[in-house]
Amino acid sequence: MREIFVLVEHRQGKIRDITYEMLEAGEKLASQQGASSTAVLLGHNVKNFAEELAAKAAKVLVVEDVQLEHFNSMPYQKVLCSLIVKYQPFLTLIGHTAFGMDLAPSLSVEMGFPLVTDCIGLSFEESRWKAVRSIYGGKVNANISMRESKGYFATLRPGVYSPGAPKGKKGGIVIESSPLQEAIDIKKFIEYIEAPIAGEDITQAEIIVSVGQGIGGPEQIPMIEEVAKSLGGVLACSRPVVDRNWLPKERQVGISGKTVKPKVYIAIGISGAFQHVTAMQGSETIIAINKDPRAPIFGVADYGIVDDFQNVIPLLKEKPKGMK
Ligand SMILES: Cc1cc2nc3c(=O)[nH]c(=O)nc-3n(C[C@H](O)[C@H](O)[C@H](O)COP(=O)(O)OP(=O)(O)OC[C@H]3O[C@@H](n4cnc5c(N)ncnc54)[C@H](O)[C@@H]3O)c2cc1C
Repeated sequence: MREIFVLVEHRQGKIRDITYEMLEAGEKLASQQGASSTAVLLGHNVKNFAEELAAKAAKVLVVEDVQLEHFNSMPYQKVLCSLIVKYQPFLTLIGHTAFGMDLAPSLSVEMGFPLVTDCIGLSFEESRWKAVRSIYGGKVNANISMRESKGYFATLRPGVYSPGAPKGKKGGIVIESSPLQEAIDIKKFIEYIEAPIAGEDITQAEIIVSVGQGIGGPEQIPMIEEVAKSLGGVLACSRPVVDRNWLPKERQVGISGKTVKPKVYIAIGISGAFQHVTAMQGSETIIAINKDPRAPIFGVADYGIVDDFQNVIPLLKEKPKGMK
């Protein structure tokens, strides 16, 4: 049976969310093709990851090598090429992340297979792979048709596919020996340095009250921050709020800011541009307050309040009777 490869992305002892999103996408595409999806796990001492992934993928292909412990596109490329030559998957999915952007182009050149980057949709129609890419800052969607080839590569934009719940399937774990014979030292992993978090880390918050340009000005912020605190949450914002210096950059949610997945996300005066929504649509419950009933934010909201935020904020400040 033909396969779709999904390259597992892991860092600092954790499988990254994009892996689960790609597994879901890979599973859907594979079932349409009568094929199966395979999680390709490259690393060192990654037995625990393999077991975790076996609940999600039909098969987990593992290559362990000390040179694969941390992501490095050079050994990764060598190992992936040898696996692709051996198993001949018709499609290999890679995350459109710093990791994937480093690896995918050279892999595509090495294998001579087409690559479509930053896909927000993939399908197989009229005997061809087709991809959708969002271009010009999300204003236009381009439909791409790929030329005929033995194999294809696609990098998927994070946050587009939701990671499905574990299916409880016990996929087989296949261990392949590493084809790396000698040390590759042209490019070396030295150290992973986490970007310093100044002030509040919005990515860890369970409740986020997020403000957009629709609040009108920075003078509204203290009142909204008070509401956020009384709910046990933190304040975040859309990009124009940062551009206008109403709040610092570390509070920005969006493709050029932070990705958040709180239990509750309250969007106040935010229109719901794709660049914002991509990074907050994984929130458990989204509440939108916007005076325009046609604002796109209502498309992702679980609850919507169509009103001027000035009328709603005082109500949010009132605690129901009996609540401490
Ligand atoms: C390359 C690129 C990267 C980007 N990255 C990001 C990013 O990381 N994060 C991000 O957020 N954006 C980003 N953007 C910008 C994005 O395209 C939007 O312009 C932005 O998200 C809009 O912000 P907003 O919703 O606050 O403002 P607007 O689009 O102006 O929306 C304001 C909303 O407030 C509502 N409103 C007005 N007055 C009231 C009121 N009194 N009460 C209630 N509602 C009211 C309006 O109806 C409107 O819907 C990026 C753009 C590009 C091109």
